[in-house]
Order: sequence, then structure tokens, then C-alpha cells
Amino acid sequence: MATAVTFTNKPEELFVDKHVKYIQSLDTRKDELEYWLTEHLRLNGVYWGLTALHLLGRPDALPRDETIKFVQSCQHENGGFGAHPSHDAHLLYTLSAIQILAMIDALDAVDTEACAAYVAGLQKPSGVFAGDEWGEEDTRFVYTALQTLKILNKLDRVDVEKAVDFVLRCQNYDGGFGVVPGAESHSGQIFTCVGVLSMTNNLDRMTPASRDQLAGWLAQRQLPNGGLNGRPEKLEDVCYSWWVLSSLAMLGKLHWIDQNKLVGWILSCQDEVRGGLADRKGDAVDVFHTVFGLAGLSLVGWGGLKEVDPIYCMPVETTKRLFGPK
Ligand SMILES: [Zn+2]
Repeated sequence: MATAVTFTNKPEELFVDKHVKYIQSLDTRKDELEYWLTEHLRLNGVYWGLTALHLLGRPDALPRDETIKFVQSCQHENGGFGAHPSHDAHLLYTLSAIQILAMIDALDAVDTEACAAYVAGLQKPSGVFAGDEWGEEDTRFVYTALQTLKILNKLDRVDVEKAVDFVLRCQNYDGGFGVVPGAESHSGQIFTCVGVLSMTNNLDRMTPASRDQLAGWLAQRQLPNGGLNGRPEKLEDVCYSWWVLSSLAMLGKLHWIDQNKLVGWILSCQDEVRGGLADRKGDAVDVFHTVFGLAGLSLVGWGGLKEVDPIYCMPVETTKRLFGPK
């Protein structure tokens, strides 16, 4: 439930300790209605909170043993992970589970063979992946599937070439990418498609002109107040600080937007009393916008935050340990 939020008019400070306390408090609110209404997001919520804590330099602020036990309890008998122990498995939660374990160096705590088999079983003849056994297909799931397998070092279980070809077919005449071939360009989808091309070393399958066109479309997402929107004519939103910025970073074009203005705008979305960040100034905070706001600040080099990897949305410390230096 939304509670009153206090924002300053001109914050120039990142309230690190308050954000850490806010994330720690999320698991102690089991008596609140909001906690139960968002139960379907729980495993994702742990990933968002843990990533934020790592970026804030407080990786131990959530108890490691309890985190591992919770992730283990979410693994379904089919090898995938659900949001919560009693929920069906889905690729989105499966990636969150594997990212959580990767960050705390505990991948051996679950059955990774079964997990890889679950993910591989969701690839379709076109190369795309379905999100779960019920079949919704989307470029987001290509990204989640390939990142999960890459972390597990089991990319050989799927047809990467076909997956990449599918993603390339989703690029539009404006340079952007959509959920399926021919669908409208959207920053969230662009992040997942550029992420797939980057993590499989296929970014050069886009011509330099088409990469520039895409970067131009992304740079146009910045509004006069400094914030970024997800597509033309939409309101700015802190989570697009991640989807747009990380895509620009992967394309080597972060300098195409006004980073100072963006930093000022993200900082204005903090709740300086209770901690956390909101989607935009004046709204109630949540852990989703908290992590993507912090990740955006990290990408533009805000002092004091750990470096985030634009491809995987995990600390560079973790991706270096997993994949070696770039
Ligand atoms: Zn948002």
C-alpha cells in the first residue's frame, strides 16, 4: 500500500544507509497486505534487493543461508524455479534464482542439470523461447534463457545460432526491437535483444549504421527534465534508467545522453526518510525501481557504488568471477 513519501527538492546525495535499511525491511513486512499481494514477485524481489545491496557495497546485508534455503525451496520438480515454493516454474524466476546464487557464489546449492534441461525444453523451432510450459513467446525469454544457461556454463544445451537469428528478425526500421518480429520497438525489449547479441558476441551482426540508428533512438528517450522514457510519448520512469542506459552502454554510446541531468533526476526520486527509489518523484518507492535506479547511477559512474555489468545486471565482481575479465 502506498504510504506518504518525503522527497527533497534538490537532493545531491545518495542515501546509502537508508536504502540498505529499506531493502532489509522488505522481508519483515509479512503482516502487511502489500507483501501478500506481491507474493508472485518474491524470488524476483530477492534478486532485485540483493543486486541493490551488492551495488551499495553491502552484499552481506541479507542472511546468506536463509537466502539459499529460500531459493532451494522454489525449485520445481521440472528443474525450473517458481516465484515462491508453491508456484509454477517460469523462466523469469528461474533466471532470478540463478542470478541470486551466482552473486553469493552458491550455484552448487541447487540441481543445475535439471535447471538447464528445463530451460532448454522451452526453446521453439523458430529459435525463440517460451516463458513457461503454457507457451507465451517473447524476446525477453530468449534473454532470460540464454543468460541462465551462460551462468550455468551450459549454453551448448540449446541452439544459440537460431536464438540469435530470431532476435535479429525482431529489429525494426527505426533501429529498435520488439517482442516478436514486426512488433513495436520498446526499450525493455531492446535491452534484452542487445543483451543476447552482446552475451553471445554477436553485436557485430548489426551493421555500424544500424547500431548508430538504435543508439539514436535510445538517446531520444531522454526528456528535458533529464529522465528517460521507454518509448515515444510516454512518461519518464526510473526503471528506464536501466533499460535505456544499459543498451547504450553495450553499444558504447553512453555519452549520447546528458548523464549529469539524468543523475540529478534519479536522485530526486529517492525517499530520503525511509529509503528506496520510486518510478518518479513523489510516488511510493518499491524494490524494483530501487535496484534499477541504483544500477543506472552505477552505469554512469556515480561515486561509491559498485560497478554494474550492463549485459547481466549483476555486479561486475560477479560476472568477472563467472566469465573472466572482458
Ligand atoms: Zn518503471
